[in-house]
Amino acid sequence: MLDLSRELGFQFDNTYARELPGCYAPATAAAAPAPRLVKLNHALARELGLNAAALDSPVGAEIFSGNYAPPGAEPLAQAYAGHQFGNFVPQLGDGRALLLGEVVDRQGRRRDIQFKGSGRTPFSRGGDGKAALGPVLREYILGEAMHALGVPTTRALAAAATGEPVYRETPLPGAVLTRVAASHIRVGTFQFFAARGDTAKLRQLADYTIARHFPDLAAAPNPYLALLAAVADRQASLIAQWMHIGFIHGVMNTDNMAISGETIDYGPCAFLDAYHSATVFSSIDRGGRYAFGQQPQIARWNLARFAETLLPLIHSDPQAAIPEAVAVLETFGGRFDAAWLAGMRAKLGLLGDPQAGDLDLANGFLAILEAQAVDFTLAFRGLSGAALGDHTLVRPLFSDPRPYDAWAEHWQGRLADPAASARVMDGVNPVYIPRNHIVEAALAAAVERDDLAPFHALLDVLAAPFTPRGGLEAYAEPAPRGSAPYRTFCGT
Ligand code: AMP
Ligand code: MG
Repeated sequence: MLDLSRELGFQFDNTYARELPGCYAPATAAAAPAPRLVKLNHALARELGLNAAALDSPVGAEIFSGNYAPPGAEPLAQAYAGHQFGNFVPQLGDGRALLLGEVVDRQGRRRDIQFKGSGRTPFSRGGDGKAALGPVLREYILGEAMHALGVPTTRALAAAATGEPVYRETPLPGAVLTRVAASHIRVGTFQFFAARGDTAKLRQLADYTIARHFPDLAAAPNPYLALLAAVADRQASLIAQWMHIGFIHGVMNTDNMAISGETIDYGPCAFLDAYHSATVFSSIDRGGRYAFGQQPQIARWNLARFAETLLPLIHSDPQAAIPEAVAVLETFGGRFDAAWLAGMRAKLGLLGDPQAGDLDLANGFLAILEAQAVDFTLAFRGLSGAALGDHTLVRPLFSDPRPYDAWAEHWQGRLADPAASARVMDGVNPVYIPRNHIVEAALAAAVERDDLAPFHALLDVLAAPFTPRGGLEAYAEPAPRGSAPYRTFCGT
């Protein structure tokens, strides 16, 4: 017991707990009657300085199910508010999550370690604070896939089954996800204190956020205005990256937008198969507020809510701060467009200096995909062959290939060095994404048959999304034609 901390490698340094009293409530994890470690992320554990071998054990099961707090952890539930589908809720908070603390990883980056599904906290309202195994594994798969795809994201460190049922529509096996994030500070965290008119706490939170995520801004003429610009920049780049791979977050409430610029809270998210900008998968998003093509507008809307919280910090007279904040918000469109076009140019192998026709080429390809409901991932991946004159992977995806032929002729004329283009394209257009039907099959096997093999296999495939491997063809294919439309549900 004495040297367990050294043996397991946890070296907590909990700045949030120390520096931001009043921004959280201490809480403890519920007991798990029969803990079982479903998956430990060895590579991530090592990155965090943890002893992966020692943790991949019954001791690890006790820790990652919440039964045994690792030495140095100071479990707490963070306070936050948020706009959910446009409606402001002044108090949300970690109702089913628990921040264990922070560790500084091997590259010197400070990372949160957080449980999700470890039981009730002072913010649980009517909820049980628990999570079911299916959504826990879903977040594990999606987060790790996004990471391998090069998108900033929270990561999954472990999934542990608790041995206890959780009651949703039916009893389901309970589980805890341990996730790792640059931090869990959200737009909603700022809204919590702004809504209470607590400018002192707000300033403390903003100063903490700047020191933790944007230390250079402390010296800016107006650090809070600079914070708004920096967060806008990270969101512009993040949303562009989502759209380059066909990702729909599904529930971009302000409490689900991390200030760090990482993707957070994988609930009803999904990847596009047939390309259509109006695609919605979430069963609760009836108005299409968070549809694929809406994501930049929603990010901007969320940033406006963030800006509102910062007004009293930007200027002692908040009215005087408004034009300054608005001027920053107005840069979001340009930031997003630039990030989006840069990524689309890589996807199309448009190398060298940008040219006037690049945007039209990108939009033109999307338009023909949309018109014929072509699979987004297959189409882009197949284009590297087309760059070299082999259209056999792309052309047959179109029921009427004529619009593709016309577009491709124009596009190929633009490629000065097709071999170089093809190499770039294969590095950004994935072969493997978390295909919705394959994710569902892996979760069903785990939950209904206690068969974790498909989950483990899928994680292995998604760990190298740009490298085609023999025998994995089924993972690269969209759902069979005629499948029921895919629907996702909220709630971990
Ligand atoms: P989310 O849908 O994950 O963005 O969560 C929105 C809010 O609902 C957060 O404050 C969560 O902590 C809370 N919440 C969601 N599910 C539960 C649950 N089972 N028990 C307690 N709180 C929950
Ligand atoms: Mg959330």
